[in-house]
Amino acid sequence: MLALSAYPLNVNSLFLDRRADAPGAQVAPILLGELEDPGRLAELAAQSDVLTFDWENIGGASLEALEHMTLIRPPRAALEVCQDRLHEKALLTALKIPVAAHAAVDSLADLERAVRQLGGRGILKTRRLGYDGKGQFALQHAADLPEAWARIGQEGLIYERFQDFSREVSIIGARSATGQIVYYPLAANTHAGGVLRYTVAPYANPPLERLARRHLKKVMEHLDYVGVLTIEYFVVEGRLVANEMAPRVHNSGHWTIEGAVTSQFANHIRAICDLPLGSTRAVGHGAMVNFLGNMPPIEALLSLDGVSFHDYGKEPRPGRKLGHCTILKGSARERNEMLKKALQLVKWT
Ligand code: ADP
Ligand code: MG
Repeated sequence: MLALSAYPLNVNSLFLDRRADAPGAQVAPILLGELEDPGRLAELAAQSDVLTFDWENIGGASLEALEHMTLIRPPRAALEVCQDRLHEKALLTALKIPVAAHAAVDSLADLERAVRQLGGRGILKTRRLGYDGKGQFALQHAADLPEAWARIGQEGLIYERFQDFSREVSIIGARSATGQIVYYPLAANTHAGGVLRYTVAPYANPPLERLARRHLKKVMEHLDYVGVLTIEYFVVEGRLVANEMAPRVHNSGHWTIEGAVTSQFANHIRAICDLPLGSTRAVGHGAMVNFLGNMPPIEALLSLDGVSFHDYGKEPRPGRKLGHCTILKGSARERNEMLKKALQLVKWT
């Protein structure tokens, strides 16, 4: 999706991925190799004016070695802080952005103390390398503690108090090297089992949106950020509690391909290539439904008015994100009706 939006800007893409059938390889040349292979990374950097990533688990040290060869955007410091849930929460807290009560856990004794202090309803997570709900264990009460430890007990965990949220929302924005910032409308996200199922946007809530924009601006300016950045939130009693950040284009922004004047992908490319950022205005009422584990019937979905189809060409595997569809309508009511129809056609496996 990044390469597809780079193409009309006459920006050439080159990917590094582990597999020749990676989605990017369908639309741009690819170097095959491990994402932290120093030789491959050096090759990539030598051939590039700017290097970016759409996965945040590349070690900072691997990128540091490339910094004298090419521009790395977003900056490595931003990537590194987002890689560790504890550091991420520390930064958010320092910037006065509310986060869930939490504690670092490196031993069973730490977990026992955390459960005593924060309560038995919470989520134990790995600080690093988790995504799509992987590396997490939800405790309903203190009695679940032994099982939680047996399942994912190790060093480098975080225990978070469970957030009784009414909704999850996310804000996505882009910042240029000159400090220009644009923000997309707030999006409302529905997850199951820690994985995003669908997004509705714009999620019209002006006070929350204003607050989320202020947060995003603070983080971007603090990190001297260049590119697209996302903050995910819980809405708890009408207030925003930041959950996590992503230093990249985000699944909850896929609706912008059809639903905004300039997509998140196009704005990421513009930002990292020193081009002016584009309007983030929503062109209607949008939604996005993820295809997980299997592909839904393309004919049935494309027969629905205002529905677009995105197949990443990936091998199906249970729970794997294989594609998505977007819905774009003139009113929220029509969008909601069409979303219902689309959801009937999409089976998550
Ligand atoms: P990932 O990196 O896998 O997206 P998240 O921390 O965003 O990890 O967790 C995935 C989902 O799990 C969240 O979107 C939310 O639905 C649920 N979740 C995570 N942490 C909490 C929490 N502290 N309270 C309630 N739900 C949570
Ligand atoms: Mg998340």
